[in-house]
Amino acid sequence: MKELRGIPASPGIAVAPAFVLVDDADGSVPDYGIREEDVADEWRRLLAAFERARTEIIELRDKAREEMGEEKGAIFDTHLLMMDDPDVIDKLEASLKDTLRNVEQVILQVERDLVEKLGRLDEAMFRERAADIRDVVSRVLGHLLQKERFRLGDLVDECVIVARDVLPSDLMTMNRKAVKGIVLEAGGKTSHSAILARAFEIPAVLGLGSAAREIRSGTKLAVDGFSGVVTVSPDESSVTAFLSKGARFAARERDLLAVAFLPAETPDGRRVLVKANIEVPDEAEGALRHGADGVGLFRSEFLFLGRAGGPPDEDEQYAAYRRVVETMAGRPVTIRTLDIGGDKALPELAELEERNPLLGWRAIRFCLSRKDVFHAQLRAILRASVHGEVRIMFPMISGAAELDEALDALGEAKDELAAAGLAFDPAVKVGIMIEVPSAAMTADILARHSDFFSIGTNDLIQYSVAVDRGNERVAYLHQPFHPAVLRFVRFTIDSAHAAGIPAGMCGEMASDPYAAALLLGLGLDEFSMSSVSIPEVRRLVRSISMERARALAEEALSLGSPLEIDRLLRERLDPEVGALLR
Ligand code: PEP
Ligand code: MG
Repeated sequence: MKELRGIPASPGIAVAPAFVLVDDADGSVPDYGIREEDVADEWRRLLAAFERARTEIIELRDKAREEMGEEKGAIFDTHLLMMDDPDVIDKLEASLKDTLRNVEQVILQVERDLVEKLGRLDEAMFRERAADIRDVVSRVLGHLLQKERFRLGDLVDECVIVARDVLPSDLMTMNRKAVKGIVLEAGGKTSHSAILARAFEIPAVLGLGSAAREIRSGTKLAVDGFSGVVTVSPDESSVTAFLSKGARFAARERDLLAVAFLPAETPDGRRVLVKANIEVPDEAEGALRHGADGVGLFRSEFLFLGRAGGPPDEDEQYAAYRRVVETMAGRPVTIRTLDIGGDKALPELAELEERNPLLGWRAIRFCLSRKDVFHAQLRAILRASVHGEVRIMFPMISGAAELDEALDALGEAKDELAAAGLAFDPAVKVGIMIEVPSAAMTADILARHSDFFSIGTNDLIQYSVAVDRGNERVAYLHQPFHPAVLRFVRFTIDSAHAAGIPAGMCGEMASDPYAAALLLGLGLDEFSMSSVSIPEVRRLVRSISMERARALAEEALSLGSPLEIDRLLRERLDPEVGALLR
């Protein structure tokens, strides 16, 4: 029995035998020299395999579009564009002539070169692109070697997939009844695989690194998608413990869902809203199932990531926003404008190499200097506003001048639509994320120009404690209960209320029930989080009086360290929250 630790990427517990997907580039590909006079035949062999692969990809794309919507199909458009890239074709041809080796080896070499070139991209983008390249290469190799590519759709027995990475096309076509869990060497929370695992509600642990190579097919695994731990060959008593943890979570989910549609109201009558954070339109249905009072954060940049051929145009964006708004059936939907750059690099839009990307040309700064991109998005959001209650939210605002400029751009987008005779809600609410310390400290000023605030603690903690949120070496410093963070949060909420506008939070902190009690006491009006956490926070709100939450918040803010605050909350809230989590 051995424990491997990775990144918890999709919640849930799975116990099943491993199914190890073997890499095509594991050395089993033939390697031989060819004569110069064979080059033309070898090239024809490659083109024929390309043709068969292309037909297959088109079929997959159409299936993905039909079943999962436009943006999932776009993954395969990326693959088609890669195959048609004249640079890639030229490289293959030149390499075939230069090396005089069989085309399978030529392809593997070009794959290695392309992946090496990606090294300049940030980690998440690198993984995504590398997975796409591997997907295409593996498909073409399958046709060249005339061996049937193993299809995850053909899996019959229950299993946990273990692989270096799982290709988007494999995830799209896999038999979801058989796949109980996913364990990958590669990937993080924003990779295609993580997004799709969450969309399919399959427990997943990613980013295990080479540790995953110890796992053999058929070995029993216990995957804990909550803690990110994979237990290899768990003994019988551990399996029983895992299964009962799984059953407890399932029962708790059912139990929690019983309150999902009751108002998030404290016993003494304080009503708050608990909303969902979503990344892709598909997630809106899950948000509803978990009882979301609306979408508090639609991270619109995910419509732009992982696709080739430039950003989605206004009509494509409009269709995506409209779909979410209509699915939410009258509940408010807050669409955050493009939060690109920093840790979410988009090479097509931002080619700049920056020394400090997290402090650089990102989010609203990028949009304000790329008005073409910004206007198209604003028009798309405005057009979607006739289909329900839409709110617009600007990310990374650092001061009033920036906000004024963004509001001017919105005014221009409205004028453009009016001139074109296109309908929109003229009174659409416009708010900002408070995620930069300078914004938190000037919340009283910014409140004069905003209809609402949403505190982004993921970034606010990063910038106020000076800790890169993606660096696991300093992760211990990313502390929501740091007194500095709590003071920023309190000042933001108080400033919002003094100006008569609501204050929400869409950072991870809002989904922690202990923190939620504290935030309730500080007067937070809206909590937004990934859908699975909604029922738990809703129940917490329904179980604690405002009077008690206020006293708790006051006591917590008088303490000097995150540890003391954490201890206080755990001690005081254990009867409610502890019982929920055990
Ligand atoms: C945040 O920073 O807290 C936030 C919600 O935005 P993101 O995680 O997308 O940066
Ligand atoms: Mg942020």
